[in-house]
Amino acid sequence: MSDTLTGRVVQHGADRHLVLADGDDPRDPQALWMCRLRGRLKQGRRERVRAVAVGDRVEFLRTSESPREGVIERVLPRANAISRPQPSGGRHHRKLEQVVVANLDRLWIVASLAQPPLSLRFVDRILAATTLQGVDAGLVLNKADLPDRADPEAVAALYASLGLPVLVCSAETGLGLDALAEALEGRIQAFVGQSGVGKSSLLGAIEPGLNLRVGSVAEKHGHGRHTTSHSRLYYLSRVGGWVADTPGMREFGVWGVMQPELGPGFVEIERQAEGCRFRDCLHRSEPGCAVREAVASGEIAASRYESYLALLGELPADELERDKGI
Ligand code: GDP
Ligand code: ZN
Repeated sequence: MSDTLTGRVVQHGADRHLVLADGDDPRDPQALWMCRLRGRLKQGRRERVRAVAVGDRVEFLRTSESPREGVIERVLPRANAISRPQPSGGRHHRKLEQVVVANLDRLWIVASLAQPPLSLRFVDRILAATTLQGVDAGLVLNKADLPDRADPEAVAALYASLGLPVLVCSAETGLGLDALAEALEGRIQAFVGQSGVGKSSLLGAIEPGLNLRVGSVAEKHGHGRHTTSHSRLYYLSRVGGWVADTPGMREFGVWGVMQPELGPGFVEIERQAEGCRFRDCLHRSEPGCAVREAVASGEIAASRYESYLALLGELPADELERDKGI
């Protein structure tokens, strides 16, 4: 019998990782293997400060059966990865990338239709980041029960037209929760949204007793958190799926991207851009801009174009500006 097993990293610590071997019961905490990293894996590639992330599929060598311990020998190729700039990376921090979760099946952008009011700017910011990083996204519109809510139909139609699954939910009344649970089945997903939109309420409604730290008290009171030591996947035993909870998810956004690279983060803008007179058109005030024409004709939603312009304004124009940290 081989001493090499394959499995998935479900929790990521400073120097230890918890791995669930293929075939083991995800509901049984005793089944997890405590693994260290083989020395040569520790540094990783230069830009990726950590070689292993939560969600990674790995091969590991078992070193002890009781307790279950092993050494990660190899990280299998990733389908995708969500990354963020490495915190406190010093002078070159803009170049350093830290993978916070790998192999995500879908990232759900959670927004509330009221209290706090719907922020399409936030939705578009996260959506641009997932699109650029090759991660499938979905949209959860929560708090549909509130009387002062935004119109869910119009918002759902807009994002469905961009190819996103959209779920209108209420953690309060249970609306849409069956559909949400079904969407989480057998997959690895993450919820990203502003504080107070109802992420923990939704997950708690789907899996009572789930001790997710999303919106935890410490964080809400600004005490910060250990930056990377507690990333993990939570198993939802009722639906049989995983939810990623990592500190990096909350800082997730468009970073390391320069202005000319933003367009592909907005699928409908990218589609229209083919008709622009200039190949390097940023769709701001250039003559012959097909994107602005499409906005004027209503083909591209004004809110999406406004989000694009707002994000563009935050990004460095080129590598020189980026490296100067402007
Ligand atoms: P998080 O910061 O995104 O995790 O948000 P929470 O789950 O902590 O929810 C913030 C507040 O919104 C809490 O007071 C919840 O009770 C409330 N809330 C969450 N979902 C709903 C909902 O669907 N309808 C209503 N009316 N309130 C909700
Ligand atoms: Zn243009």
